[in-house]
Amino acid sequence: MSLKRLLPVFLIALVLGGLVYLRQPQNDGQVSRTALIMGTVVDVRAYGEDQEQLELAVTAALDEMSRVEQLFSSHMAESEVSQLSAAANTLSLSPEVVRLILRGQQIGAETSGAFNMTLGALKKLWQIESENPHIPSEQELSAALSGIGPDALTIVGTAVTKSRPELVIDLGGIAKGYAVDRAVSVLRQAGIKSATVNAGGDISLLGDKRGKPWRIGIQHPRQENELLVTLQLKDQAVVTSGDYERYFERDGIRYHHIFDPTTGKPARQCQSVTVVAADAASADALATAAFVLGPEAGVRLLERLTDVEGLLVSSDGQLLKTSGLPE
Ligand code: AMP
Ligand code: MG
Repeated sequence: MSLKRLLPVFLIALVLGGLVYLRQPQNDGQVSRTALIMGTVVDVRAYGEDQEQLELAVTAALDEMSRVEQLFSSHMAESEVSQLSAAANTLSLSPEVVRLILRGQQIGAETSGAFNMTLGALKKLWQIESENPHIPSEQELSAALSGIGPDALTIVGTAVTKSRPELVIDLGGIAKGYAVDRAVSVLRQAGIKSATVNAGGDISLLGDKRGKPWRIGIQHPRQENELLVTLQLKDQAVVTSGDYERYFERDGIRYHHIFDPTTGKPARQCQSVTVVAADAASADALATAAFVLGPEAGVRLLERLTDVEGLLVSSDGQLLKTSGLPE
């Protein structure tokens, strides 16, 4: 081909090349993306040199969280958890769902039943998150609580049996943490060495931030836009349960979304509980459980567990911490 005939091709290539170059975002060593998953804003950030690798990894992490939502959501009728709630007695579930239910049961046992995944009927009764929440009568409460004890779910292999057909299953106290763990696992498998995943306060940290620990601000339970403390963490999860997240007020009383399984009412002894643990699913369930147990019993629980630390704010605003909290 003559040089003259090649010139237009060369020019077109130059223009196209220029366009591609302009469309390429500046690589500042970071890619972040947010999405609405599990009713909360999820933020995934990955750090590294390879822009394309970061983008693919962040997208895959968010996709993974959506997949987890479809397994565990109580709002999606087809989810495995909804199918179990609808089942009369026994249902065979996927090994992944069974594993998380087993982990929740273990935490239920470690927390004298404070963590309970069979409170679904109670959640429906209160309608805390709806426009028209309802303060139930004692009669309604005892009906919603019947049969929710530690033997409510029996698991053999992948077969899960409910002790009563009416039991409604709710993994809202652990599934978000699990989704965060899965996102981190996907990022790690994609070769990412440094990343954060934050699902509305359920946070997991992969590696560190350019050689230094991440600085994670913990929300003050009563002062909006104020931090209680800043924690310095790496390769860990940190999860907060608070009575300020989802609540309504009536006659000066705050009714929130963390229920004491012994009363069927919102747990009264804490404003917030933050738990640091190796994985977000455990931190998530333990934060919910410690909130129910109250500040003193909650601190004792978290001290007893290895590689778990915590920070609790009592209902009168006192701050309690475990001895090894990495501040
Ligand atoms: P979290 O925000 O992680 O503390 O979880 C609160 C959610 O967990 C609620 O919206 C319920 O779906 C569920 N939940 C409430 N009380 C309990 C409890 N005592 N044990 C387990 N899950 C609970
Ligand atoms: Mg929780």
